[in-house]
Amino acid sequence: MKLYKIKKSNIDKKGLYASKDIDEGTKIINYIGKIISKKESEENNKFDNKKDIYLFNLNNKFDLDGDFKFNTARLINHSCDPNCEVEGTGLKLWISAIKDIKKGEELTYDYGFSYDKDYKQFPCKCGKKNCVGYIVRSGSRWRISKRFKKQKNSVSNFFQK
Ligand SMILES: [Zn+2]
Repeated sequence: MKLYKIKKSNIDKKGLYASKDIDEGTKIINYIGKIISKKESEENNKFDNKKDIYLFNLNNKFDLDGDFKFNTARLINHSCDPNCEVEGTGLKLWISAIKDIKKGEELTYDYGFSYDKDYKQFPCKCGKKNCVGYIVRSGSRWRISKRFKKQKNSVSNFFQK
């Protein structure tokens, strides 16, 4: 039996949800796709930041393009307080639980986006207490937290649109 099912999500259009209780450390689903070179991903406008991207950084030469229907794991949303992480190398990537997950909970992991001038293109709607409002990897969120406080009004206006 699969450990997940696809459902409508509050974070994005769709998400994956635990279809039963999952123990910490369990491998839940493989993240599958095609390996492409960084050069290809830079030149291909399919990976334009304005579109949904499922590009996985493998190392400094290659990415994994996970933008395929058969890659169900692409539906897993980012959260600032995730219950999963990505493990493995190369084409052997999988999503595993980093805490005990209850049946019905949405599966999430940290997309690990770096902090740069474009971070505002990726608002985060995870709704967790520690949410900084944007999809940025945990190690860089302090940069936004500072700004987040300063610009609280403009950020909430942004979400009301
Ligand atoms: Zn968040």
